[in-house]
Amino acid sequence: MAAGVYKRTGPVLLTGATGYIAGWVLRRLLEEGFTVHAAVRDPGNDEKCGPLEAMAKELPGTLRFFAADLLEEGSYAAAMAGCERVIHTASPFLMRFEDARRELVEPALEGTRNVLKEAMRTETVKRVVITSSCAAVYGDNADIREVPGKAFTEAEWNATSRLDHKPYSYSKTLAEKEAWKLAEGQDRWSLVALNPSLVLGPGIQPMTRSGSFELMRDLGNGTLSMGVPVYPFGAVDVREVAEAHLKASLDESVASGRYILSGHDTDLVELAGILRAEFGDRFALPRRVLPKWLVWLAGPFVDPSLTRAVISRNVGIRIAFDNRRSREILGIRYRPLKDSAVEMFRQMVSAGLVDPLH
Ligand code: NAP
Repeated sequence: MAAGVYKRTGPVLLTGATGYIAGWVLRRLLEEGFTVHAAVRDPGNDEKCGPLEAMAKELPGTLRFFAADLLEEGSYAAAMAGCERVIHTASPFLMRFEDARRELVEPALEGTRNVLKEAMRTETVKRVVITSSCAAVYGDNADIREVPGKAFTEAEWNATSRLDHKPYSYSKTLAEKEAWKLAEGQDRWSLVALNPSLVLGPGIQPMTRSGSFELMRDLGNGTLSMGVPVYPFGAVDVREVAEAHLKASLDESVASGRYILSGHDTDLVELAGILRAEFGDRFALPRRVLPKWLVWLAGPFVDPSLTRAVISRNVGIRIAFDNRRSREILGIRYRPLKDSAVEMFRQMVSAGLVDPLH
């Protein structure tokens, strides 16, 4: 989208500015000429903050870093001071973890509490946008069987994830529920929850722990060279997700509520096929489709989070998302999945994050 679309207000707070999605949100805010209060864990981390600083130098807006941690109460006060708009993206999206409560649930839930309670104390705040997830809409693919229109909508809530079954989805569900509870306890600011499916596309810088990059690395570096099962999910480009954050935070006509962001109903086999068609035999990309029974037998030994319950309730079960609200209210136009996947993989190859076979 062209710059200069939004009326300029005071500074905008962006939490987790070093993140994958936040990088593009930051870029668009700076293109629009906003002053961005970027809350990050460590403003002195040159590897993560340096590329953002360099980007800001080329764009009309102003970037200011603030140190803040999701788990430290009151730590967003300085960054939020004077802001009308708060965009809360910070939360771990990890494919691999050891302690789900400590690494996923606590930062997601405590962080949301911390940021939104700060918004309650900060008189200037009018709108809060949180980066929730489709994971707060549904837990397992099998949940689709209970959905009246056979496509997940914003009316659904994940009721099937737990600490020991899809803990990331559980963390996002608890966090979004907490956000709605806090929003309802006040009337100065309105809340928008954005619910993206799997985000793909190049990063502003690819140095992130985001599960999006981890999955692409697994596809490209041989971890899944034995093959992949038909594991359906939704996918969306990071630039569309960023645009939705701008619209939701800066356009006052956007109603408070939830917005699913998902451009494509796809699966692991299709994603691997798109990459193979473009990158051929240069990488150890998966070639075979693994049958569900084989994944059921071997999956838990290969990846402990791939439990038999996860396999039975997800592999081979098609899902669909109704993205109407995002198109009609946020004005999102979804680009082809191939563009997102190919551009992202190419960036990872250039950055040395996936190794060619020879
Ligand atoms: P990411 O690149 O890993 O970004 C996560 C951000 O959270 C990083 O900036 C990280 O900071 C920050 N963070 C983590 N723990 C923190 C803590 N204790 N204190 C302060 N900051 C902390 O992941 P992403 O994919 O962009 O995800 C951003 C948001 O989008 C998350 O809320 C995620 O749940 C949501 N989401 C992602 C996807 C997806 O497919 N990527 C889909 C739906 C929703 P550091 O740089 O210091 O680690």
